[in-house]
Amino acid sequence: MSKNNQNNLTTKIVSLCKRRGIIFQNSEIYGGIQGFYDYGPIGSLMKNNWKNLWLRENIQKRDDVVLIDGSIITHPTVWQASGHVKNFADIMVECKSCHKRFRPDLIDNATKCPKCGGEFTEGKKYNILFETNVGVIESEKTHTYLRGEACQTIYLDFKNIIDSTRVKIPFGIAQIGKAFRNEITPKNFLYRTREFEQWDIQYFCHPTDMDKFYEYWKQNRMEWYQSLFNNKKDLRFRQHEKDELAFYAKKAFDIEYNAPWGWAEMEGIHWRSDYDLTQHQTFSKQDLSYRDPVTNEKYLPHIVETSGGVDRSFFFLLLDAYREETNEKGEIRISLKINPKVSAYKMAIFPLAANKPELVDKAINLYKSLKSKYSVDFDDSSNIGKKYRRHDEIGTPWCVVVDYQTLEDKTISIRDRDTMEQIRLPISQIDVWLANKLQ
Ligand code: ATP
Repeated sequence: MSKNNQNNLTTKIVSLCKRRGIIFQNSEIYGGIQGFYDYGPIGSLMKNNWKNLWLRENIQKRDDVVLIDGSIITHPTVWQASGHVKNFADIMVECKSCHKRFRPDLIDNATKCPKCGGEFTEGKKYNILFETNVGVIESEKTHTYLRGEACQTIYLDFKNIIDSTRVKIPFGIAQIGKAFRNEITPKNFLYRTREFEQWDIQYFCHPTDMDKFYEYWKQNRMEWYQSLFNNKKDLRFRQHEKDELAFYAKKAFDIEYNAPWGWAEMEGIHWRSDYDLTQHQTFSKQDLSYRDPVTNEKYLPHIVETSGGVDRSFFFLLLDAYREETNEKGEIRISLKINPKVSAYKMAIFPLAANKPELVDKAINLYKSLKSKYSVDFDDSSNIGKKYRRHDEIGTPWCVVVDYQTLEDKTISIRDRDTMEQIRLPISQIDVWLANKLQ
């Protein structure tokens, strides 16, 4: 689909997601609440598959990255050390167009956005951290925050991981977890929400190795996304301008996706230096340094961060996968050309006719035999056309039909989602066939 035809693509995806149980507006029966979404039965399976691919790539296939699952609420001082409490409590204006926020005094009280010329919101005291209280006795409650970025938990656990595992620098700590930002303008479906998941790797190395590992992770993360998106040309790097860089960062790149509203950040590759560990060392008064077991050198490791949005990249994956084709009768076929590893179901199994017990029984048996190994669906409702339509729309890559020929020669037909071509295969070979396809 050309970009010109994509103007209402987001609307189409939102509608498809609701229609097929992928994603719903949270609290819809109460009119909804802006910036919060729920994954439905199909979407939950897809999102878990999406996260599992990341885990497989970054944990299972590697020897130098360990995983944590940190808590959402932390000691309140964490957010003072990280700078979030101070930085997010200033009077800021936000550009209505590119959503960059500025302190008016730092941009000579300009009335238009210096980045894109867009209009500003009113100046407000923005604190995008969600506040909460811990404890039940009114006078003894501790005022704290839901984490504004998942990575802080990694820095907090750094010392415990060094002390409790066999990791040696260079190594990474990875995490998939929720982050919360009280965004002023949630928009574009999952792109900017107030509750979302991040997948982060903080890669700890010697300061002299930063250039090497920065370039390594930058390429590694781009190649991973390229291997999963159909349209590689819709992915690019954007290097941050000098004035966008944090004072401790030598460089920063975003991996961007060519969204219907323009290029948009999907993941940031950040040069965090020793900033975070220094801050937590100062505020906690704990020694967070690392002693090299070979050279005995003691130093604060430097960090290359890869930080991406799980929901945001999942949304981009849906945009990339959405297809509409019109047949000779003028009917529109919608399909999600999504990587089979992300699809909720790898295969859907139907009997040709729902009122023929011999076909239904055979189809159920096949479904049961595959179910313990793969996520598969069985459907004996309505007509075959409707079943194909449903599975095309949720991105099921292969639909299997048990028909009269199956009763004679024990073969079934397999229809491919993208080409709609059908092949016949002996039932006994399906397991191996599917395993090969999903490798
Ligand atoms: P943006 O400039 O779009 O607000 P950011 O630079 O503040 O993003 P980071 O703090 O680097 O984002 O967070 C890492 C990733 O988390 C982003 O690349 C994005 O994929 C995701 N992310 C950040 N904010 C949101 C949000 N409000 N909703 C969904 N995903 C988000």
